Amino acid sequence: GTGIRIEGLRKRYGSGDTAVDALQGVELQVAPGEVIGLVGPSGSGKSTLLKCLGAVIDPTAGRIVLGDEVIYDNGWQVRDLRALRRDRIGFVFQAPYLIPFLDVTDNVALLPMLAGVPNQEARKRARELLAALEVEHRAKAMPAQLSGGEQQRVAIARGLINRPPVVLADEPTAPLDSQRALGVIRILNDMAQQYQTAVIVVTHDEKIIPTFKRIYHIRDGVTHEEEGEGRVI
Ligand code: ADP
Ligand code: ADP
Repeated sequence: GTGIRIEGLRKRYGSGDTAVDALQGVELQVAPGEVIGLVGPSGSGKSTLLKCLGAVIDPTAGRIVLGDEVIYDNGWQVRDLRALRRDRIGFVFQAPYLIPFLDVTDNVALLPMLAGVPNQEARKRARELLAALEVEHRAKAMPAQLSGGEQQRVAIARGLINRPPVVLADEPTAPLDSQRALGVIRILNDMAQQYQTAVIVVTHDEKIIPTFKRIYHIRDGVTHEEEGEGRVI
């Protein structure tokens, strides 16, 4: 795969006098197996970029390649964005959004089950991932019984269960203490290496910023690439 490649991406909201140019020619690349940070002040265009990458909104111009697939090329888009979102992109949000009436294993196994993987097989895969994330002992618990840190690790397992070539994480460590926040980044790095996933972490969390080897700063809809400290966790 090619990871993520974004070229000349523009997004205009509205038109005429009230138009807002939220993205003004974004250039960004993430290699398979790489985890990069995306950092910028409020209103700089982070959510807009994530929404374009997640095929939640259409960009106005530019090109997005995810894995081997061109999903946008100057207005052209692949036909089945829903399948793309389901199979190609893992989402990790700031809030875990676990389903309260399913236990931890089924929260993680739900996506492959819905995609037609036999329940036993889906649950086995979920357990393996929960073990890697060190929450296997909570496999039969309900979400409300978990600590915040545990819920977040379950949400990460759910985001990775289909082994998507691309993971988009929006402030994944915001509610976590320093040790747990670094733990989440270590897991994202390990998973990226293991499955050759390209990971974008949107964050302003000072605890994790030193861990990135590369950081994209975004301001007024334009990105600037910078070398990070790449601190080993
Ligand atoms: P961030 O996530 O970095 O806070 P956003 O992508 O949400 O930035 O916003 C970028 C710019 O686009 C801001 O000026 C914001 O006001 C504007 N914007 C975001 N969403 C909309 C929308 N739906 N309609 C109009 N303007 C929007
Ligand atoms: P973390 O740092 O992972 O958030 P905590 O130190 O908060 O973990 O929690 C330690 C243990 O207490 C965990 O096993 C967790 O399941 C349990 N726990 C934490 N909060 C709750 C809660 N609100 N209800 C039930 N169990 C909880």
